[in-house]
Amino acid sequence: MKKESILELRNVTKTFGDFVAVDSVDFELEAGEIHAILGENGAGKSTLMNLIYGLYQPSDGRIYVTDRENWRYRLRAKSPRDTIASGIGMVHQHFMLIENLTVAENIALSIGQLRPGVAKSVSENGAYKEWLRKFLFNKEDAIHITEALSERFGLAVDPSALVRSLSVGLKQRVEILKALAVDARILILDEPTAVLSPQEVEGFFTILRKLQADDRAIIFISHKMKEVLDISDRITVLRRGKKVYLGKTGELTARELAREMIGEDINDVERSTSADVESELSDSVLQLSNLTVLGDRNEIAVSDVSMHTYRGEIVGIAGVDGNGQRELAEAIMGLRHTPSGSVSILGTHPKGIKAVRERGVGYIPEDRQTTGVIAAFSITENLLLNVTHLENLTQWNVLNQKKKRETAAQLIADYDIRPPVADSPASSLSGGNQQKIVIAREISLQPDLLIAVNPTRGLDVNAARYVHENLLAQRNEKKSVLLISTELDEVLLLSDRLYVMSRGKLIEATAQRNDIETLGLLMTGETHRDISDSLES
Ligand code: ADP
Ligand code: MG
Repeated sequence: MKKESILELRNVTKTFGDFVAVDSVDFELEAGEIHAILGENGAGKSTLMNLIYGLYQPSDGRIYVTDRENWRYRLRAKSPRDTIASGIGMVHQHFMLIENLTVAENIALSIGQLRPGVAKSVSENGAYKEWLRKFLFNKEDAIHITEALSERFGLAVDPSALVRSLSVGLKQRVEILKALAVDARILILDEPTAVLSPQEVEGFFTILRKLQADDRAIIFISHKMKEVLDISDRITVLRRGKKVYLGKTGELTARELAREMIGEDINDVERSTSADVESELSDSVLQLSNLTVLGDRNEIAVSDVSMHTYRGEIVGIAGVDGNGQRELAEAIMGLRHTPSGSVSILGTHPKGIKAVRERGVGYIPEDRQTTGVIAAFSITENLLLNVTHLENLTQWNVLNQKKKRETAAQLIADYDIRPPVADSPASSLSGGNQQKIVIAREISLQPDLLIAVNPTRGLDVNAARYVHENLLAQRNEKKSVLLISTELDEVLLLSDRLYVMSRGKLIEATAQRNDIETLGLLMTGETHRDISDSLES
C-alpha cells in the first residue's frame, strides 16, 4: 500500500553558471519513512537538500509539500524561514550552532526564528507561546523546553552546557533538537554519520528509529553503503546530478548499489604501466614510511601509511571525501603535524611548506579559493606568484615585463581563463576560473613532484581535459605525480598505479582497477571480508 507523500520534487534542476548540479530530479518522501540518498561525492546530494530547505531556489521544476494541517501546496521558499514554517528541518554537514551560547539558548534562538503565528500553532503546552509573548530571552523557559524535548526523544544533553564544550556527537544532537523544537516533520540529515564514531552511529540510529516511530519522515544522506542498508526504508541514488535509481532497501545488493553510484560509463582506457615503474629505488621521488597524520580535531586522520612514487608515473589515490586524503596531502606539503613516520622527498626531509616547495614540489590544494589564490592580486600576479616563475622572468635582477605579459597571456589562453583580462583581480573571477589559475601556475612549473588534490573539481569539460593532458605530460617528462581525487574515473583514466584511501588507511588496488564494483566497495569503507561475503550471497 502506498503511503501518502509529504514532499514531492518534480523535475527539479539547479545550475551554477553552466554547471548542472541537480538535473531534472524527481523525488518523493512518504510520511514516516527513512529515505536514504546515496551518491558519490559531488553527486548533488547537498545541493538537492539545500533546494528542499530553501537555501537555494530551483532553476527549474517544482517542489510540493504537505504541511502540518495536511494542506498540500507548492513550496516557493525564499529562505529556510519559509521551509521551517512548512515543517522542514535540516541538520547540515557543517553545524550551525553558536558556540558561545548554551544548548538551551541555541534552541531558544531556533524557536525565535519562527514567525509568531506558526509558533502558536505548534505549541502544545503553552510554553512556547508564553516565552514568545514575553519576547525576552527567558533562560528558565529555554531550559524547560530543552529538557522536555530531550526527554521526549531520548536525546540526552545538558541544557546549561556551553555548546563549545560539547563533543561532535552531542553538537549533532543539539542540531536535531533545534529542528525538533520547531516541530520539523521532515528532517534532512546531511551526512550525519560522517562525524561520528562507529559506537556513536549505533546510538544515532536508535534515535532515528525513535523519530520515525513519532511519525517524522527522514531524509538520510550518506555515501556509506552499509549504513544506508541498515537504516533506510527506501533509497534514491544520485549520480552526477541525476536520479539514477529509486527502490526499496534490500531490492539491490551493496554491489549493485555501488554500480549505480559509480556508473558503468567509465572510460575503459587501457594504460600500459610506465616502463620505469620497476626501476631502481634511486628514482623514487616521494617516499612515505609509516606515516600518521593528525586531523583538525587532533584525531588520527591518516594511519600508518607507507607508499612511494617514482619518476615517470602518476600514482592515483581514489576515495570518498573525508577519509584522510586532505590531511595526507597537507602532511606531504609540510603543513601538518605528523606524530610518527616520515615523508621523504628526493631523499631529503624538508620541514615546512617553504622547504618542501623549494625541493621542487607543486601543489594543487583541495581548498583552492582560500589557499590557492590571493584574491586582491591580478590574474597575472597569481599566475606568476612562484619564485621559480619570477626567476625565469628575471635577468640581471630586472623583471622582464614583456616576457611576464607573454607568459601570463599564454597560460590564460591555454587554460581558457575567463574573462581573459590579465590585470583584473582574481577575486573578480568565478571559482572555476580561480582554480584554473592555480592549476596553470602549478603545472606550468613542471615540478619534480606534483601533488594534485581533486584538480578538476568544478572545472568545465574542456578545462578538465586540458588538466588531464598536462598531468600525463608531466608523467611523460619523467616527473612524478600524486593524484588524489574523489572522481574514480579520473583516477582510473590517469594513474599508473592505484590506491584507495578509506578511513585513513591506504589500500593498494592496482590489481582491482578493472573491477569497478570492488573499488566502489573499498571506497565506501567495506573491508575485503565484507566483499567476499557479499559475493557469496
Ligand atoms: P554532494 O553533496 O553529493 O557531495 P554537492 O551537492 O555538494 O554534492 O555538489 C554537487 C556539485 O555541484 C559539485 O560538483 C559541486 O562542486 C557543485 N556545487 C555545489 N555548490 C555549488 C555552488 N554554490 N557553486 C558552484 N558549484 C557548486
Ligand atoms: Mg554533500
